[in-house]
Amino acid sequence: MPSFSNTVLLTLGAVNGAHAWGVLGHATVAYVAQHYVSSEAASWAQGVLGNSSSSYLAGIASWADQYRLTSAGKWSAPLHFIDAEDNPPSSCNVDYDRDCGSSGCSISAVANYTQRVSDSSLSDDDVAEALRFLVHFIGDMTQPLHDEAYEVGGNNIKVTFNGYSDNLHSDWDTYIPEQLVGGDSLSDAQSWATTLVKEIESGNYTSQAASWIKGDDISDPIAAATSWASDANALVCTVVMPNGAAALQTGDLYPTYYDSVIDTIELQIAKGGYRLGNWLNKIYSSKIAKRDLESFAKVGRAATSQPDLSGRSFLPDPRPLSRAKLARAAMDGSCCNSGRHNH
Ligand SMILES: [Zn+2]
Ligand SMILES: [Zn+2]
Repeated sequence: MPSFSNTVLLTLGAVNGAHAWGVLGHATVAYVAQHYVSSEAASWAQGVLGNSSSSYLAGIASWADQYRLTSAGKWSAPLHFIDAEDNPPSSCNVDYDRDCGSSGCSISAVANYTQRVSDSSLSDDDVAEALRFLVHFIGDMTQPLHDEAYEVGGNNIKVTFNGYSDNLHSDWDTYIPEQLVGGDSLSDAQSWATTLVKEIESGNYTSQAASWIKGDDISDPIAAATSWASDANALVCTVVMPNGAAALQTGDLYPTYYDSVIDTIELQIAKGGYRLGNWLNKIYSSKIAKRDLESFAKVGRAATSQPDLSGRSFLPDPRPLSRAKLARAAMDGSCCNSGRHNH
């Protein structure tokens, strides 16, 4: 087992509440993925995580949200999102070079941990960490407001949902999914995942599921992750705030707004799980070639034992801080400033 227990994780999750898809969303993504992971890849992942239970991915799916709240893990906060500096609702787009900050972003993180999870020169702990990060970040990327800089990913858009004052980001992460499912336990996630898998296998998603993973190539993880982020970012313009943010601040978002977005939230959770399962199968079966073999060779073998935890080698060239990056910095790099609803 890793150095923490699932019990501790779940307890922390209950205390710290909503960050990124909440505990419910991440666990559901993980259960959907588990359905699509081949038995060989599942055994490999269980071995990496030291967990052969039926919740081997779901149990660690929110670890990254707990880790970034620790002093040791604070550096990882920017990896939960990419701040697309577009202009919703009139224009939505992701530009990796423009939007990925100097401390990294979800896209660079997926690339980095895709490489690291199959890097045999890393320690068992580092490989397990890479897998925990991947399971989480591939989920985060399907939440549209994790692919949007506007108002710090919607964290600064104050709204009312079902009688509570909160912000648009946390409603998408947590409160809208929980309104649908009725809880955030692993068994809630498991039953939601079962519903979504049915939709993929013989329901509303059957005809489109193949398009969710089309072109995903393990040898170009930046391209794959950028396509996932772009897909979700487009929804900011069309579904999350089609009439702008101010239109969401004129009354309670429940039930009218909820009704207008809930199908998209289910779709995104299903996509995240389907992509994660497929991506893990690809990682397992292809064992990607080390990207920087040549540069490792130049600086000698020692370099391979000093992994770059930041994934810096994947980052675009540094640029001056934009207004959006400064706003994010003011939040101390965090993705979400929401706690639980205050009663
Ligand atoms: Zn979030
Ligand atoms: Zn996250």
